Amino acid sequence: MGEVPPTHPRYASLMARKRLTDAAATGMLAESALIAHGRGEAFDYLLGERTCDAARKAIAEVAARLLSAENPVISVNGNTVALAGPQLLTCAAMLNCPVEVNIYYRTPERMEALLSALELQREEATTLYPEFHQQISLVPILGATPDGRIPNLDGPRANCHADGILSADVILVPLEDGDRCEALVAMGKTVCAIDLNPLSRTAKKATITIVDELTRCLPLLLDDLIDETLIPDENWDNEQNLRQVVSEMLRILDDAA
Ligand code: ATP
Ligand code: MG
Repeated sequence: MGEVPPTHPRYASLMARKRLTDAAATGMLAESALIAHGRGEAFDYLLGERTCDAARKAIAEVAARLLSAENPVISVNGNTVALAGPQLLTCAAMLNCPVEVNIYYRTPERMEALLSALELQREEATTLYPEFHQQISLVPILGATPDGRIPNLDGPRANCHADGILSADVILVPLEDGDRCEALVAMGKTVCAIDLNPLSRTAKKATITIVDELTRCLPLLLDDLIDETLIPDENWDNEQNLRQVVSEMLRILDDAA
């Protein structure tokens, strides 16, 4: 990727693709992972590849919910570790909470690849956020020995840790699948999703949905987590927030037409 200069108009997109293809080569991703990313890219075009106002509000609300949680947890899958593992470890460090690997197509090889990638990413996280060095080194990384199950969900994708996802009150799940999102909400959890598709089941079922690109919204979320004064809005209307995002997409399409 050395040949692509940072000034290239598609630099961020090309770097994301590089991170994902590298991760695929090390066995971290399921075969469908690149398809999921492509669907996200298409929706990002419709947003003008920027964080819209509605997404900015959702980011602040997610930060408020995470800060006031008793047992927050950050659930990661292959794409999120590949694209933003260090930033998610830093979120966990700020919240003093675990990161749990919870993947849809669970195999021992993929789990092992993701757990060891996260261990290595502690160093990158520390380079990016040296002020959280100590906390980053202490973040529990769960997933290896699941001893609980998400109710009403079939197969190995329901496996989770009793002291992680199972007992969490607020869960940050970037790029979650619709089924599992619904099952987590049914357990009474506050589910905070990050998903570029405002029409997906995940976007519609989550308690709060950040419709933004993962790597673009995380620095903003980290800024908000430092601001410990944020208070949750108990009247948060997720449907209305999603409507605002769709209106923004329609405005962008209209301008282009
Ligand atoms: P659902 O399961 O919620 O009904 P889906 O089956 O259409 O949705 P999945 O394949 O489960 O979607 O997950 C991919 C989702 O992740 C897509 O909705 C896509 O928009 C989103 N996505 C992919 N890459 C990113 C990214 N980098 N940032 C944010 N969202 C992304
Ligand atoms: Mg799905």
